[in-house]
Amino acid sequence: MKFFFRPHHFLCTLGFEGKGYSPDFVKNYTHVKEALQNNEELPIHVIPHLDSVCGGCPHNQGGVCDTEEKIRALDNRHSQVLELAPGDVLTWAAAKQRIKENMTLSAFHEACKGCQWKSLGICEKALKTHREEL
Ligand code: SF4
Repeated sequence: MKFFFRPHHFLCTLGFEGKGYSPDFVKNYTHVKEALQNNEELPIHVIPHLDSVCGGCPHNQGGVCDTEEKIRALDNRHSQVLELAPGDVLTWAAAKQRIKENMTLSAFHEACKGCQWKSLGICEKALKTHREEL
């Protein structure tokens, strides 16, 4: 199985716990997360546009994100912190390790600035728990 993630979706996936833009989006994302949890050695290809997470998202308008500009800003900041570029391929295990090492809490607050889900605190909590396992 092959997965494609745009850069900010690595951290989103760490925190994903069944909330999202629509039931179809949540269903698709649940499958993605379960597959990666079941086999952390699956390869994830880094891409700069719609990816494996975007299936069923109401913002996915015929293969183009209707909030692309805002999302690209998130991608740029996450790319810098996690040292990711389109064309990179890494396992979920390696991605989790990269998040542990690079995504400090202050980096998270900067990288995720402007995301509508941030204020829920779910991602911050998941990141804190993940980094405590260092
Ligand atoms: S705050 Fe937004 S961009 Fe950041 S990890 Fe959570 S859902 Fe993803």
